[in-house]
Amino acid sequence: MATHDAVFVGAGINSLAAAALLARAGWDVCVLEREEVAGGCIRTVEGLTAPGFTHELMAAWHPLFTGSAAYAELRDELDRRGVEYLNTDLPTGTAFPDGSACFVWTSTEQNVRELDAHSPGDGAAWQAMFETFMANADLAFELLSTELWSASGLGLAQRALRRLGRRGLLELTGRTLVTCRDWLTDTFRSQAAHGLLAPWVLHTGLGPDQATSGFMTQVIAAALQLGGMPVPLGGGVRLVEALCGIVRDAGGEVRTGADVERILVADGRATGVRLADGETVGAARAVVASTTPTALYWKLLGEGDVPARVREAARRFRYGRGEMQIHVALDAPPRWRGSRAAELARTPVVHVTPGLDGVSRAVNEAERGLLPAEATIVCGQPCALDPTRAPEGKWVIWIQLQELPAGQVKGDAAGELDVGDGRWTEELREAYADRIVARLGESIENLAEETIARVVLSPADLERENVNLVGGDIYGGSCALDQNLLWRPLAQAPGHRTPVDGLWHIGASTHPGPGLGAGSGYLVYRELTRPPLARRLLARLPGR
Ligand SMILES: Cc1cc2nc3c(=O)[nH]c(=O)nc-3n(C[C@H](O)[C@H](O)[C@H](O)COP(=O)(O)OP(=O)(O)OC[C@H]3O[C@@H](n4cnc5c(N)ncnc54)[C@H](O)[C@@H]3O)c2cc1C
Repeated sequence: MATHDAVFVGAGINSLAAAALLARAGWDVCVLEREEVAGGCIRTVEGLTAPGFTHELMAAWHPLFTGSAAYAELRDELDRRGVEYLNTDLPTGTAFPDGSACFVWTSTEQNVRELDAHSPGDGAAWQAMFETFMANADLAFELLSTELWSASGLGLAQRALRRLGRRGLLELTGRTLVTCRDWLTDTFRSQAAHGLLAPWVLHTGLGPDQATSGFMTQVIAAALQLGGMPVPLGGGVRLVEALCGIVRDAGGEVRTGADVERILVADGRATGVRLADGETVGAARAVVASTTPTALYWKLLGEGDVPARVREAARRFRYGRGEMQIHVALDAPPRWRGSRAAELARTPVVHVTPGLDGVSRAVNEAERGLLPAEATIVCGQPCALDPTRAPEGKWVIWIQLQELPAGQVKGDAAGELDVGDGRWTEELREAYADRIVARLGESIENLAEETIARVVLSPADLERENVNLVGGDIYGGSCALDQNLLWRPLAQAPGHRTPVDGLWHIGASTHPGPGLGAGSGYLVYRELTRPPLARRLLARLPGR
């Protein structure tokens, strides 16, 4: 049996970043991935729709990665390996049904001008929001990058208390709980500003009427202005290849087609894993599982390996809404309608929605098991940043629909589609995609005539691509407050340590949740490489 220092289950961004960092720190690591390619939700597919067109099958936008601690530490090495990020001054906008549009830019002045044009005074409101947020941005970002259930989490709370005082901390915590709707309507007068920011809450796994969604919207608004919308030249595969290269060049392994079916536990300690074909791989120091809690506690571990209350909590872990991806190859760049057509054509992420109430209604319909009558269309245009994604003069569109039922579809809110027995058949998938594409065609006038080919992935298809996307939930479990932050993944097993010694839990289901920020992988890397307490105390002695 081969034995490594650390064995990773799954090769998503969290595993790959942690494995690369550990490999650089001298660890012998082995990453085991059940699919035929590494990368998890980062999957770049050339020719998916037609020859010469490169599509991101799932995740496409990398602001969370370029803003991450993992990137800061690995950047030199990734640069050397040719990972090049392309960015823009116009990361996002919303196209409304009446042909108007509203945008977020990467400069405060432009955002002030943009919002004032929709309603005088909203520009100042944006500026005040940004300045207030930035005054405590370190605390907000640390909340999303600290192991909360630990001494570091306590340290963060103490620092916040020292800076803000008891009243101030209470106020800030209250502001963190606000809904997106309440924050938007309290802050901005124009419906355009509401419709510009409300769709972003979908990208945090929440809806605009859920607790903390207002705070998450502010984090995103600030992050968009500060960081834009970077994508890797040539696609996410470049990042995946580079991370795998770091592991392999340090003597580690990244194996694909390696399905882990059991984590081996002896005397309460994880000692390795067993693959579906019976092979065992030993882990001398750590097993790191990037799976859902359901898979970890009900499939990979045995009944006696963890307390019954933890298993029971994992059984109750809830998954969020389903998602659909539509990939389109176009023979020419899109011609957007309206007076802001030129700006829309160069914006990488455009939302198409009637506005805040439109997002709220579609989320509510999805949560009641219905196909929304008027879904929020996330229209991604990677070619706006990276022309290599399509043959010269052509274009790809990456459409994301984040408001679909978790589990079976009970009906169609528009009363148009027969949903049959509620399963995602090919017929239902294509019929729903037709409705979306027809609606997008109201904003992009040449969409139908320039379409060369399209490929659609239903929630069920997404789960087939990556077992962690249960029911097509792309965020590894509901991000409602009771399953987020301190309570992610489980109140009974918070953070990344598990009840089994030497077994760590990472990935979207764990704090700080989904996205390409590699946050959970980074936190576990830090924990594994932390010097022992005695050495840390000695290092603090005067004169050392
Ligand atoms: C369609 C879609 C679009 C998205 N768009 C964006 C975006 O643009 N920007 C962004 O920041 N985020 C985006 N996200 C979210 C983000 O991609 C994910 O939250 C993130 O990639 C999850 O990373 P992870 O480390 O949890 O692992 P994952 O990417 O989920 O990978 C886990 C891997 O583990 C493997 N695995 C699981 N169990 C086993 C086992 N027993 N044995 C071996 N292997 C196993 C799986 O096959 C999978 O490859 C998107 C997600 C999806 C699905």
